[in-house]
Amino acid sequence: MKVKDRLSLQFTFMFAVLLIVVLSGIYVLAAGNRSQTFFDKLEDRALTAGQLYLAQDNMSEESFSKVIKKYPQSLSHEVIRIYNDKNEPVFIKEDSVHWSESVIKRVVQEKKVRFTNGDKQVAGLYYIDNSGNFVVIASAIDDAGFQNLKQLLWIMIFFFVISLLITFFLGRFFATIALQPIAQIIGKMKIIRATSLDKRLPVNTYRNDEINQLSLTINELLEHLEQSFSAQQSFIANASHELRTPLTTIMGNAEITLRTDREKEDYKNTLREIIKEVEELNKIINSLFELSQANMDSFTVETVRLDELLWEAVDECGHKLKNNPIKYSVPAYGEKCTIQGSRRLLFIAFSNILNNAVKFSNNSEVTCALELNETSVSVIIADKGIGITTADLQKIFQPFYRAPNSQGFQGSGIGLSLADKIIKLHNGTIQVKSEINAGTEFKIIFSR
Ligand code: ADP
Repeated sequence: MKVKDRLSLQFTFMFAVLLIVVLSGIYVLAAGNRSQTFFDKLEDRALTAGQLYLAQDNMSEESFSKVIKKYPQSLSHEVIRIYNDKNEPVFIKEDSVHWSESVIKRVVQEKKVRFTNGDKQVAGLYYIDNSGNFVVIASAIDDAGFQNLKQLLWIMIFFFVISLLITFFLGRFFATIALQPIAQIIGKMKIIRATSLDKRLPVNTYRNDEINQLSLTINELLEHLEQSFSAQQSFIANASHELRTPLTTIMGNAEITLRTDREKEDYKNTLREIIKEVEELNKIINSLFELSQANMDSFTVETVRLDELLWEAVDECGHKLKNNPIKYSVPAYGEKCTIQGSRRLLFIAFSNILNNAVKFSNNSEVTCALELNETSVSVIIADKGIGITTADLQKIFQPFYRAPNSQGFQGSGIGLSLADKIIKLHNGTIQVKSEINAGTEFKIIFSR
């Protein structure tokens, strides 16, 4: 069922409940009012009949029987009875109805009695007079009143149905108008595909309703999608380029070597070259694999002591160097410098940053330090190397990006993006301060 139909049905249902409550209230009030009015009429009739009967004292027998004959029956099925002190009927206009002694006694006790007997309404009066005390009981059926009530009921049912129909169609009309912008959004979204992610939904700058917010949110999502799509595309292009470079070198070396017969040493040299390139290829593939694997689901969280881990990274990096330039000045902080995370991934991140510091500073001094305060623990790795320009600082964390001044150094441009991803996974941030040809400082901050 469409939303507009559901909305209008819900609205109609609500209105129906409201109408039923209001109309029932009106009907109950009208029915009560009819009953009261008829009882009043009956009492009036009973009083008149009593007065008439008592006037008999002042009339001759003949004129009284004339009045009795003329006394009109004004209510439908009206029956009036007058009983004397001995409960004997004294004024009879019809023979069929006799009230029991208990009813008469009740009237004597309560002076005024009203009750219903089937369709009939009954009113009884205790009439006190100098010529004797009487009980006057009048009963009748309110045919006209019931007829009016029935008519009222039919009018109510008619207007109830008509109102519900009007409510349903009006509700549907307004729901269609209200949902029109959503229908437009759906129409526009249908034509946005991976190839047309640059398209945006129209946004009304003067209106800040939910529909506008929805369009803005979808536009933001499209913006993200477009960015990650293009990032993915350039990543694939860069990755293939980086993988192709060593492969082309391997192919070139092998083809040249095979062109003529060569000395044993030449073949050995070519094979050494090929091994070097394959190692490079292997490094790139490993980095790419680490980059794709580095996510929260793929590592087990453990307590990691940052001083220990940094020392291990320094140790491993220093081992590969002839003159180890790394100065490690971290006191044993122990439990104070622990964070929750993956030891393996953090080791990769620290090693990448440390190796860069050593690589881009041509073996001049590299210092490692740990900074602790109430809210954070930071690892600082600083070198006195080639530095990074302010423009490049924005880009060095992009996969495969290499600053122009790093072209003479070996590398593939994946290390920092991998380190950045790992640090972000640990809710950390990397701050970089650098001056060209003076040095660079990487500060990795973990909050706690
Ligand atoms: P790679 O080291 O393989 O080139 P990275 O992703 O590790 O790739 O680094 C990206 C780029 O950031 C480097 O090519 C270099 O331009 C710059 N960079 C990183 N660390 C330093 C540093 N300590 N000093 C100067 N430049 C650096």
